[in-house]
Amino acid sequence: MISIDEAVSKIKNHLPPSSTEKIFVNAALGRYLAVDIHAPESSPRYTSSAMDGYGIRYSEAMTLSPPIHLEIIGESAAGNSFKDIVQSGEAVRINTGAMIPKGVDTIVRVEDTEEKDSTVIINIAPKKGQDIRHMGEEFQEGKKILRQNTKLSATHLALLNGVGVKEIEVFKPCTVSLLITGSELVSNGNTIAPDQIRDSNMIMLSAAVEEAGGKMISATRVSDDYEETKQAITEAKGDVIICTGGISVGRHDHVKSASIAAGFEQIFWRIRQKPGKPLFFAKKDKQLLFGLPGNPVSAFMCFIHYLKPLVSAVLGFPFGWPVVSAQVKTVIKNCGNRPTMVRICLRWQDSGGYSIVGAEKQGSHMLTSVTDSNGYIILAPKEEVAANKTIDVFCYDSKRETFPLSIS
Ligand code: AMP
Ligand code: MG
Repeated sequence: MISIDEAVSKIKNHLPPSSTEKIFVNAALGRYLAVDIHAPESSPRYTSSAMDGYGIRYSEAMTLSPPIHLEIIGESAAGNSFKDIVQSGEAVRINTGAMIPKGVDTIVRVEDTEEKDSTVIINIAPKKGQDIRHMGEEFQEGKKILRQNTKLSATHLALLNGVGVKEIEVFKPCTVSLLITGSELVSNGNTIAPDQIRDSNMIMLSAAVEEAGGKMISATRVSDDYEETKQAITEAKGDVIICTGGISVGRHDHVKSASIAAGFEQIFWRIRQKPGKPLFFAKKDKQLLFGLPGNPVSAFMCFIHYLKPLVSAVLGFPFGWPVVSAQVKTVIKNCGNRPTMVRICLRWQDSGGYSIVGAEKQGSHMLTSVTDSNGYIILAPKEEVAANKTIDVFCYDSKRETFPLSIS
């Protein structure tokens, strides 16, 4: 048996390499940028009106006091700009977003005017330069607008499209095949015999892989049968095969022997930890195989601590966890004789800083121990953390995939 730290370091030594690909922006939702993006165009691209109204030459019009009469000589509409020069004593009708014609330096809002025949009467004196959006006022061509590793959302796609970016370079996701073992399992919704178990792992791990930025390529279920397991492992594709169940020392546990027979070489088996002790890690050429315990809580904790950082690393992130420092509200104790991932509830306190309490349920057969918690702490055997002590908390989730440029 090895320690948690040793397991982490062995996994870090075998991370699948990162690679990138060019894809169209309109197919890039949820993908992770492999490079910083610099704007190929300024924004706005041209100087335009911020209001519906009239474009005028401020300096000449304002030598008079309101009401000021100007001759309307045309219109600049969005997508159909006015091509001539606006002279002294003249105005053009203009819409929001329409290009400012030459000669115009100020917009008078419709509400501050009246129109009679082909004359506009300005009743309220405007301020010079008002309601004009200047070319490049948001950013100039060449400015960095998105950072490498950003997970592309709807607004990111809009920004890229808005500056004419058509193709982008993104990280290729870690590809995963899931192999759920267990003769007692039935699919969700199927009729169930008294001694059967509903399969929670297929749906949970498929979702967890996708949430972490990986790509599921297959999800298969096999019974506790050596040959069936070996064949399924042999056929599984992708950077990583994740198996669940059948990895302990029971007579019906075949994942370890079947994967070795399928050509995988063991890197480690069993970690001094609770839950998730039987975790198995093996490699065949470039393909990795993880044998997770069947217990859904144990499988989830193994995924969060070992596999989620691996999937993230393929997307260019450092292997690691979202960790925050929090104050313990009431004493938390590990009564066991193995290092334990104690599930906790993390909260932001009105007084500032995070606090935690231990989750009420800790049983590794109780899925509510993870649904009713949002992170975990790792306590040594018999370790007790007193109230008010500060401790590092591993969060299940984080927003680290968003990188607003204002955060350095
Ligand atoms: P195993 O690791 O195969 O010994 O399974 C440990 C426990 O987890 C047993 O009670 C199994 O019935 C249960 N289990 C295994 N796989 C799953 C699964 N996919 N969904 C829910 N429970 C499971
Ligand atoms: Mg089993």
